[in-house]
Amino acid sequence: MQTIESDMKSIAQEKWAKRPLIISGPCSAETEEQLLETAKHLADTGKVDMLRAGIWKPRTKPGMFEGVGAKGLPWLLQAKKMTGLPTTVEVATGKQVQDALTFDVDVLWIGARTTVNPFSVQEVADALRGVDIPVLIKNPINPDLELWNGAVERVARAGVKQIGLIHRGFSSYGNTEYRNAPMWHLAIEMKRKNPGMMIINDPSHISGRRDILLDVAQKAIDLDFDGLMIESHIDPDKAWSDAKQQVTPERLAEILSEIVWRKEDVSSELFHAALDKLREQINHIDDELMQLLGQRMKIADKIGEYKKNNNVTILQTNRWNQILERAFQKGSPLGLSNEFITKYLDAVHMESINHQNKIMND
Ligand code: PEP
Ligand code: MN
Repeated sequence: MQTIESDMKSIAQEKWAKRPLIISGPCSAETEEQLLETAKHLADTGKVDMLRAGIWKPRTKPGMFEGVGAKGLPWLLQAKKMTGLPTTVEVATGKQVQDALTFDVDVLWIGARTTVNPFSVQEVADALRGVDIPVLIKNPINPDLELWNGAVERVARAGVKQIGLIHRGFSSYGNTEYRNAPMWHLAIEMKRKNPGMMIINDPSHISGRRDILLDVAQKAIDLDFDGLMIESHIDPDKAWSDAKQQVTPERLAEILSEIVWRKEDVSSELFHAALDKLREQINHIDDELMQLLGQRMKIADKIGEYKKNNNVTILQTNRWNQILERAFQKGSPLGLSNEFITKYLDAVHMESINHQNKIMND
């Protein structure tokens, strides 16, 4: 038994280091049969590295399925023994950490609703003191990198050496395309702030539905994420939680084989030479844009002085609408989306307003 346990530990270590790391399994463990069947089919695909299952489910509203609780842990252990797949579960309290460790769970993860709460994160971190187990930390439900980094810091200070990140998107009011808006730039910024730390993507909770899973997963791989966590279920439509976003293990295998796996780097010299040339052009254009923006601000300063001398307000709504309309018309044939133009001009406009503010109030 001891050897089986230490063998499994080294398999889990090996998987933790594998790229891309693929984690899959049901949103929730529901019954022993559901979990074992799902695990068996996942293992049969040969494409999955780790088995996930929610045992304790933090639900937005009471009355929803809140997980089977600790009685699901022996099922998970059974699934591991049957398939050889290391396991991972979500933990939100010290007691849940203890229970998960008792049943040899290989990797723990902190869910989005827990990352937002420093008390809970601290409780989990305290329970991890002196324990050698990898921990994945999901982004908080609100787009706050400080909170996400705070959770990483609490877990790291407890002495956990192997920490990874899971990007699962951010909730926002009235968003219809995604269940949780990916806000990719935040994940990229988090990656930049934590160089060398694994970051995987969770297309299931970003999408909230099956039809865009592949697109989201592909985007993550294009952005050089280290892996994916995708929910799967032996009978997705009958799942007790997150039914709309779960896929069968067979569909998961299809999705994984449809993804174009890209590497951050290739060694071919020709490729690097071509890339360097194009990057040089980009640098050149960025320099020119910077010059032009500087000139634009100088003109804005002049306008600010006229406005000051004539006691006119800085913001003139009609003029702003005109600027946007003109830009949409000019930008569209150039392949620039209205969304980009709006964001870009918003930033430029804010900078102009700041410049003019300074002049008018000097
Ligand atoms: C889950 O992974 O099933 C889950 C509850 O995710 P999140 O914490 O991202 O909402
Ligand atoms: Mn889920």
